Amino acid sequence: MTGQPGKRAVEQLLSWFERQQRALPWRSAPAGQRALYAVWVSEIMLQQTRVDVVGPYFAAWMNRFPTVEMLAEAEEAEVLRHWAGLGYYRRARFLHRAAQELVAAGARGQSGPGWPQTAAEWKKLSGVGEYTAAAVASLALGEAAPVVDGNVKRVAARFNALKLASDDRALHRAAEEWMAEAMTILPEGGEPGAWNEAVMELGATLCSPRSPGCGICPLEDSCKVNEMVASGAVALVEGYPLAPKPTEWKELELIYGLARAPDSNKVLLVQRLEGWNPGLWEPPSLIGTGEAAEAWKASGAPGSLGEELGVVRHTITRHKITARVYRLEMLKDATYQDPSLVGLTGLAKKILRRWV
Ligand code: SF4
Repeated sequence: MTGQPGKRAVEQLLSWFERQQRALPWRSAPAGQRALYAVWVSEIMLQQTRVDVVGPYFAAWMNRFPTVEMLAEAEEAEVLRHWAGLGYYRRARFLHRAAQELVAAGARGQSGPGWPQTAAEWKKLSGVGEYTAAAVASLALGEAAPVVDGNVKRVAARFNALKLASDDRALHRAAEEWMAEAMTILPEGGEPGAWNEAVMELGATLCSPRSPGCGICPLEDSCKVNEMVASGAVALVEGYPLAPKPTEWKELELIYGLARAPDSNKVLLVQRLEGWNPGLWEPPSLIGTGEAAEAWKASGAPGSLGEELGVVRHTITRHKITARVYRLEMLKDATYQDPSLVGLTGLAKKILRRWV
């Protein structure tokens, strides 16, 4: 479905990237020469999170956990606290676990002997999938491992005029093939990692989902969809790739009990052990739609519910949550916690911001 992008297009995109790339904290050295630890941490943080959000988190993380040993030795609660706000907390737990696996296998510092040296070896670590393994191996080790993310798929779909949905596995395969083909025709000294970054950068900036800047794009002359728009064969490049099927949302109603310490801003928190955000903390809750105080009593949860404080709405994965929040009257010996010292769920943060 896709051929080679063509030597000229590859050169044009690489030279555009060299001139235009954004200065980002994890781009401190040229692609192919970066520290494995820093590339790995930044790539995990960047999954499902915007670059501008990740920047400060990455800097604080490298300050607190500058080496793989320091991350491996940290308490999980502290790791989660440094992640709080980035969402998708499984990523932090996997980073922590993989750091322990790396240290056990002999890795020290940020790079060097003892660290995995290929994408295939990286894939054996907890939480490291195809994308992360390819990104780390290409950006830190110079391996010709193509990355495929949403930006790459969009550029590949438009460049090759592929009529495939963005979540279609066939588009993923075609994009991967196209990226790999390009890596066989890089100009002399061209780094596979730089090609990966250049395509991702194009997707993140000029070849954006809704307002692509084709008129100033380095691939303007070679991009098939752009050509089709110019000839009137299609109306807009934005139609590529095709839209995925809409998400099927599930409605979920929860009841939360908010208990505050009588003389401070401490609150009663419980740790989630299963479902979404395991390991993070929030006020006690239960699933329920009916009369809240009775449902609370029937569930055997501690304390009793008082007045209703209000409703908070929240979405997570495929759930639309409606949380009814009540004042929780607690027994005298309840243990309250300072919420700033633990990792909180996103919904807990909304509740505490509003009422504490
Ligand atoms: S010409 Fe337009 S559609 Fe094609 S790659 Fe560039 S920005 Fe994307």
